[in-house]
Amino acid sequence: MLRVHEIYASVQGESSFAGLPCTFVRLSGCNLRCRWCDTPQAFTDGQQLTLEVVTQRALATDTQLVELTGGEPLLQPEALPLMQALADAGRTVLLETSGERDISAVDPRVHRIVDLKAPGSGESAKNRLQNLTHLTRRDELKMVLADREDYEWARGLIRAERLHERVAHVLLGPVFGELSPATLVMWMLDDALPARLNLPLHKHIWGADSTGV
Ligand code: SF4
Repeated sequence: MLRVHEIYASVQGESSFAGLPCTFVRLSGCNLRCRWCDTPQAFTDGQQLTLEVVTQRALATDTQLVELTGGEPLLQPEALPLMQALADAGRTVLLETSGERDISAVDPRVHRIVDLKAPGSGESAKNRLQNLTHLTRRDELKMVLADREDYEWARGLIRAERLHERVAHVLLGPVFGELSPATLVMWMLDDALPARLNLPLHKHIWGADSTGV
């Protein structure tokens, strides 16, 4: 069984897949509490559904892209067979994960979008850095930054761990409403940082507090 918050079709708002039609399977529950979390509604409740029902509903919307998100999807063991079933059905599968759980058992056909939590999130001690060794060029690393201190932390990690050589893209985005995208771009250009600006497209379309879109 899986505890599901919602399943819906929309436009992908982040990552290198931004702008594409995508079905989101949002699982309930998260063991982190990032200060700027925009999906606290997914921390609790949710509907218990079988793997078969979730798979059917995710495929029924007919988008090529399907993303498993949360909350934290890897807290639920059946997230793994769900991703396998979606990939078996020919879908391009994305996994958005906090980076706190072990990602090594995820089906290799899945594009893993792994967060690295910056200090401003209040959860950077939870980063599972062992996950870096499992990343491939199919995957993406994402960091959400609140201020200059977060940026310098990200810059240090990118350079020290050569993150841009481990994954398809290193994504840097500002905390919505806290750090101006223009400021972040200026910092990235000044440092010639090998990273990609990641703006939450869905928030620009529907507003910061929009849910289920
Ligand atoms: S990991 Fe994601 S869902 Fe969990 S608190 Fe952080 S931002 Fe929210």
